[in-house]
Amino acid sequence: MTEQYGSIEAGGTKFVLAIGNKNLEIMERISIPTSTPSETIPKIIEFFKKFNVCAIGLGCFGPIDLKKDSPTYGYITNTPKIDWQMFDIVGVLEKELAVPILFTTDVNAACYGEYVAGAAKGLSSCVYYTIGTGIGAGAMNMGEFVEGFSHPEMGHMIVRKVEADTYEGNCPFHRDCLEGLAAGPAIEKRTGIKGQEMGQDDPTWDFVADYLAQAIYNTTLILSPEKIILGGGVIKQPQLLPKIKEKFKQLLNEYVSYPHIDEYLVLPTLGDNPGTIGCLALAKKKQTLSN
Ligand code: ADP
Ligand code: ZN
Repeated sequence: MTEQYGSIEAGGTKFVLAIGNKNLEIMERISIPTSTPSETIPKIIEFFKKFNVCAIGLGCFGPIDLKKDSPTYGYITNTPKIDWQMFDIVGVLEKELAVPILFTTDVNAACYGEYVAGAAKGLSSCVYYTIGTGIGAGAMNMGEFVEGFSHPEMGHMIVRKVEADTYEGNCPFHRDCLEGLAAGPAIEKRTGIKGQEMGQDDPTWDFVADYLAQAIYNTTLILSPEKIILGGGVIKQPQLLPKIKEKFKQLLNEYVSYPHIDEYLVLPTLGDNPGTIGCLALAKKKQTLSN
């Protein structure tokens, strides 16, 4: 029988569920809203019960507990989504579906997808940023996620405020961290217009590019990754990447030499699928390790 793997991308607004084969080809996919666990979890179980998956990769919004020896391993922890706070998502799904689950953050999953099958295929390190409803990043090094006491939270790094930018930031924890200044909702709050409907010459894009360039500068000097991949809805603005590259070059001021900018700062090659493919690849890895 051909092997089937499961993917669950648990996002703040929707869960994307998928089935893939051993070549990481997506065979089925559905999307369900992130409402409450009592509504969402039965829909996940119903979907996967129709298939015969041998493992599931779960990339989850966070913060989450990834420490295997922690009593709350597999839980969504301090999320602003009250219904999901301290919810044992891995425990509940493993019990109901009776398959092993590889659990990581949503951005780690997307990072892994690009690492095994996308823009960073063949490299030993990379960082993946998503710039959407929030900002997050995952990092890979030598086949492993970069993690310490927990997963990285690069989206909340402190950035230097651009003088002309009068917006105070909207992160409930830090106000003007990277996410508080440059994620989709912060862009919308400045102008009252959604990013996708805003003019390409709006000055907000210069601010956003500056903050993202600072984040990439910091990431470059801290981790020295071979490639940085920028995904998420906001980066679909075509004027943004060239602005970020320009600002990044100015900030770095040739202090370190790094790969050619067009090779170094790139868009995902897996389009909108790095998270799904990453979760399938993690499921495949989990199954290989369990055997
Ligand atoms: P999510 O982060 O919820 O998974 P997205 O990555 O699509 O989903 O991010 C949604 C955010 O990105 C919203 O704030 C939206 O306004 C913004 N966004 C989506 N598409 C674009 C676009 N083409 N240009 C600018 N902003 C966009
Ligand atoms: Zn923050």
